[in-house]
Amino acid sequence: MRHLSLRGKTVERDRRGRPIRVVGVLIDVTTERAMEEHLMRLVMSDPLTGLANRRSFDQALRTELRRATRSGHPLSLLMVDIDHFERFNDTYGHLVGDDVLCLVARALTGAVVRPGDLVSRFGGEEFAVILPETDAAAASVVADRVLEAVRAVRLRQAPAASIAVSIGAATTSGEDPIPAADLLSSADTALYRAKEQGRDRCVGADAIGASILAT
Ligand code: GH3
Ligand code: MG
Ligand code: MG
Repeated sequence: MRHLSLRGKTVERDRRGRPIRVVGVLIDVTTERAMEEHLMRLVMSDPLTGLANRRSFDQALRTELRRATRSGHPLSLLMVDIDHFERFNDTYGHLVGDDVLCLVARALTGAVVRPGDLVSRFGGEEFAVILPETDAAAASVVADRVLEAVRAVRLRQAPAASIAVSIGAATTSGEDPIPAADLLSSADTALYRAKEQGRDRCVGADAIGASILAT
């Protein structure tokens, strides 16, 4: 398929104002369009893992929160942090650490399957997953699937090493508007609780603050 751009103007109209003669140029902009799409992919994705990057995540969270409020549907957010990641870097070096990040990213992508869900690299060794139209119970099921998928990851350079993540889950009902920052800090608080409680688990928070549910 080619992308064409038409620039022109009407030089003659009939008595009812309808164009009868138009002059213009038709330009093939297929290459430019492909370049734009390529640049957009670079701007919106994380070069190491190929996941959506923080910029994409921020945009998507704002959009999905507005949509949740409009439709009155719940929305859940999972904050996922690799357990003892520093040990991989210290023991095997940063390149192996990077491999761990890619393997975890792939496990996350495999475990989060619904169209409309977004898996992103939030920063460093933290990932964030947006689950539109997902209540707290359904988010907990997805989180369990993520935990399982990451436990199954094997590192080629150290097959005996176990990899795990901790997850903080937060849900908004969609009934009232909630700032993205509040949902994020709620998930973050739950994530800290998951770490405190022994890691390799998900802790769910209520919409703002207190952690109420552990798996
Ligand atoms: P825990 O989360 O279980 O408390 O322990 P942790 O060791 O994972 O602790 P923390 O989350 O505080 O440390 C994250 C480390 O991840 C620090 C930093 O050196 C490393 N890191 C962050 N980003 C990258 C990256 O892009 N590549 C590599 N190789 N390492 C990274
Ligand atoms: Mg961290
Ligand atoms: Mg960590």
